Amino acid sequence: MVKKSKKKGVIRQARFVISNTDVSKCPRPDRPEYAFIGRSNVGKSSLINNKSLAKISGKPGKTRLINHFMIDESWYLVDLPGYGYARVSKTDRKKFEQFIRKYLLKRENLYCLFVLIDVRHEPQLNDLGFMEWLGINSIPFAIVFTKSDKLKPEEVAANVEKYKLKMLENWEEMPPYFISSSVNATGREEILSYIREINIKE
Ligand code: GDP
Repeated sequence: MVKKSKKKGVIRQARFVISNTDVSKCPRPDRPEYAFIGRSNVGKSSLINNKSLAKISGKPGKTRLINHFMIDESWYLVDLPGYGYARVSKTDRKKFEQFIRKYLLKRENLYCLFVLIDVRHEPQLNDLGFMEWLGINSIPFAIVFTKSDKLKPEEVAANVEKYKLKMLENWEEMPPYFISSSVNATGREEILSYIREINIKE
């Protein structure tokens, strides 16, 4: 079943395709792909499933899988599991990180990974370390600062500035970034335009 949106400039069709933990079992890499990742509770499901990006039909399996969705029959949206689970054992976490890292390293049609960061939080070492790993491995990514409705605009700006300064300790420049809120759909158009621009260029 396919759900349709009547609004212009938003995703018209989104359908669940497949869930797995093995990059070799992902759909054929015949379309541009954009993946979303972040610590659990960062607001990833709300951003993807809500009015923010796509109203998705069909049900993926458990959240700790690589979930592929076909968008408007032209690109793949991938919902990756949240990292940094405090509640799972070290062995489980390692296994789980391995399949995500393998996916990120091997997926040839991955054009951008959106790394979600809660805009209210101080820069966290595991997010920074993860982004450093992305850089070392030349995996293209952008940051999405989530839950911006929870702060005043000037507080959002100050926190983003703080984040930038922290990033610039290790990076020559700040990666592309977006400010989002799933409550009022802030950032939706910007993220979708960014994706569409890359799709047009490729
Ligand atoms: P996930 O674990 O990253 O998928 O996070 P969820 O999307 O499930 O969101 C975690 C919690 O944060 C839920 O209670 C959401 O309602 C809330 N939440 C998510 N996004 C936003 C947002 O943009 N604004 C506000 N105020 N709350 C949000």
